[in-house]
Amino acid sequence: MSQLSLNTIEEDSLQKTYFVQVLLPVPIPKTFTYRVPRKYEELIQVGIRAIVPFGQKKIITGVISAIHHEAPKEYEAKYILEILDEFPILSQQQFKLFEWMAQYYMATEGEVLNVGLPSGLKLSSESKIQLNPAFQLEQSPYIFSQIEEIVIKLLKKEGLLSYQQFAEITNGKQTSLLLKELLKKQVIMLIEQVQERYKPKTEKRLRLQKEWLDEARLSELMQNLEKKPKQLDVLLKYLQEVPVFKDVQKNEIGIAKSIFKENQFSTSSINTLVKNKVFEDFEVITSRLDYLNRQVNLDHEINLSPAQEQCKNDINTIFTEKDVALLHGVTGSGKTEIYLSLIREVIDSGSQALFLLPEIAITTQMIQRVRKIFGDQVGIYHSKFSDAERVEVWQGVAEGTINFVIGVRSSILLPFNNLSLIVVDEEHESSYKQYDPAPRYNARDTAVVLANIHQAKLILGSATPSYESYYNAKTGKYGLTVLSERYGEGKMPEIEIIDMRRQKAKKLVKDDFSHSFLAALEAEMNNGNQAIIFQNRRGYAPYLQCETCGWISECENCSVSLTYHMHQHELKCHYCGYRQKSPSACLNCESTALVMKGFGTEKIEDDLKLHFPEVKIQRMDRDTTRKKYSYQQIIESFESGETQILIGTQMVTKGLDFENVSIVGIVDADRMMYYPDFRAHERTFQLMLQVSGRAGRSHKKGKVWIQSFQQDHPLFKYLLNYDYEGFYELQLKERHSFFYPPYCRLIKIVLKGAQAESVRNGSKLLYESLITKLGFQRVLAPHEPLISKIRNIYHMELWVKMEKGYPLESSKKQIKNSVDKLQENSQFRKLRVVFDVDPQ
Ligand code: ADP
Ligand code: ZN
Ligand code: ZN
Repeated sequence: MSQLSLNTIEEDSLQKTYFVQVLLPVPIPKTFTYRVPRKYEELIQVGIRAIVPFGQKKIITGVISAIHHEAPKEYEAKYILEILDEFPILSQQQFKLFEWMAQYYMATEGEVLNVGLPSGLKLSSESKIQLNPAFQLEQSPYIFSQIEEIVIKLLKKEGLLSYQQFAEITNGKQTSLLLKELLKKQVIMLIEQVQERYKPKTEKRLRLQKEWLDEARLSELMQNLEKKPKQLDVLLKYLQEVPVFKDVQKNEIGIAKSIFKENQFSTSSINTLVKNKVFEDFEVITSRLDYLNRQVNLDHEINLSPAQEQCKNDINTIFTEKDVALLHGVTGSGKTEIYLSLIREVIDSGSQALFLLPEIAITTQMIQRVRKIFGDQVGIYHSKFSDAERVEVWQGVAEGTINFVIGVRSSILLPFNNLSLIVVDEEHESSYKQYDPAPRYNARDTAVVLANIHQAKLILGSATPSYESYYNAKTGKYGLTVLSERYGEGKMPEIEIIDMRRQKAKKLVKDDFSHSFLAALEAEMNNGNQAIIFQNRRGYAPYLQCETCGWISECENCSVSLTYHMHQHELKCHYCGYRQKSPSACLNCESTALVMKGFGTEKIEDDLKLHFPEVKIQRMDRDTTRKKYSYQQIIESFESGETQILIGTQMVTKGLDFENVSIVGIVDADRMMYYPDFRAHERTFQLMLQVSGRAGRSHKKGKVWIQSFQQDHPLFKYLLNYDYEGFYELQLKERHSFFYPPYCRLIKIVLKGAQAESVRNGSKLLYESLITKLGFQRVLAPHEPLISKIRNIYHMELWVKMEKGYPLESSKKQIKNSVDKLQENSQFRKLRVVFDVDPQ
């Protein structure tokens, strides 16, 4: 092509209007076209954020996903209001991942973006604006306009402004430009919810006024103060703490006013010195990251045991052929150490690593351990952290200052651009699956795709692998490596099954505990050891029943029984939060013969307190861990040995590592086994092994007591021998004959609505439509789920079961079409339809 023609093309395109596709964090299955104002033509890029008008009066932040010259045909494109970034905040790899997730999990890319992008990066009309806690006007390198200064003042006064208020200051003109400027100058932060607002911590400090930073002037001042010894004391103390001549910077920073108070200096003298312009007092915002910057003594050493070293070599060998390695290592075998050692190598080579954990396993213990090895190269991505902290991790990953992220499931959505290793620990955990809202993704499975996009390797680790992963390993799709010994001197605890039927017949049961268990517990307590007692139900009693007529207390809004909570003397619904005072007589027949059936953690706590009045007992369940630090407090108190018995729900099974636990009790094994779900046995087995894994971690040998009325259940036979594989084989035969995963793929379709009738009719019509498209053997007839009403909304479920190899994508399209068709009917328009691919 000649020079000339090239020029003409360029000129030509200069005159063309630019349009962009903008991906918005909303559940609409398409991108929107916006026009680009001339002034931004050179600045637009794929992957940067843009503020755009949405609907009548709203604004929203989206991400530019494509740039072109085609005006939309059906509507007049609106202009982009602002662009927010100079560099892309979404990487190419992320676009690919988002697309895959949307398509695989039957969601929209907007929904994926919505869970992916931390709310601090999503400005919308609902956003609130606050000062950035790290912002200090005097120290900012930027120059501020008059209006910007007004905003800063107002924010200092009000603390928080809504977008509306913000717009009023500017009379609606230039609002987004002003926002952008303030964001760029790091003055403000955007947050979505008031509750999440980060309250900056401030500190009052003192420094010497500049004029005294001269030796002659200073000695003059000291002479003048000789007659005022208290003031002189303060000054001397200051000079002692702050060597002003050695280091002028130090005076800038000054010292905390509180130092004087703590050392009993006179407050009035300090005030006088300030008044007389000797000292200047000022306030700083102590950064939210202070706790992270706290000096940790770096200790890079990781010394693997020979077994761990072997396992690490195995993994490396697997990676020469396969992308995924399953590490099946018993509890306490030290899997974490192996991961960290591999991660260390990845980071040293300049690539990124991601370490996924269930939320509850990211403890202070763990964070400190990792910080010791990796310093501040590591970012923690946790839902309990504030928006600001999450934005920081996001940006650190995008800019490459953070190479290593430890995080919960949503951290797979971070803007990695150079990932080479992903670790998913406790890969069997169902909390890797997002239930609500869409996309209902499983982070473990998504990690496989993420690894693939980056050409990275993936380690799945667990003491009790999910049957899906185990199957993949057994059939050669993944590599498998096994660690069957505990690290150090720890031995696997002995397990004893207590036959509760016989115990009961012999009258050897008291308060739901067998005598033998109580005796064993008592002996351990006397030896100064610790115990963990597990019960998979919180509250006092699962339900209240009338012995006369059989009435059971049920929730008004949901089809579940109400749980009795004795401490508040209330009946509560664990699904909708409904609560009522506990009745003293049956609401049906007025009989007072009300009895409590079953038992929860609260009752176990009460019973054990009666048995062991001298022993400190604590309970860990959702009721006792609502406050931000209560979980941590319970753990710490148990760790320090202050608490001797810890009673809890599933929470006590997650990766906790205590040295002195010599006995573990599982009070009611049957409850878990008989849950109507095809995974009930898999889960029970996993849970029991995980709970057992809390015992005998150090040199002390532990013992696990399991109470059951079904002592001959085959599950126990395998459990006693720690035969994970044996029980898996047995279960797999069942999965095969009943055609369940890993032999098929499941899609659950849930219809929800306020009218039971229309939900029922709708699911029937949908069923008929689906069987004609997919074949009747692939769709299970609609049925009410175990809990068919929640918050007065009725639910019906349809399950699609597809054999491996059956075309997945086209089936999903057909399902969507059928649903769209159904909702064209006005009768069913209001139904909510939820897709859950690979339900857990
Ligand atoms: P898992 O995750 O496999 O259940 P952990 O990683 O919690 O096991 O390890 C169990 C205990 O053994 C922890 O206290 C851990 O610090 C310790 N440990 C494991 N490997 C090592 C090692 N190589 N050096 C020192 N301590 C180790
Ligand atoms: Zn009754
Ligand atoms: Zn309810």
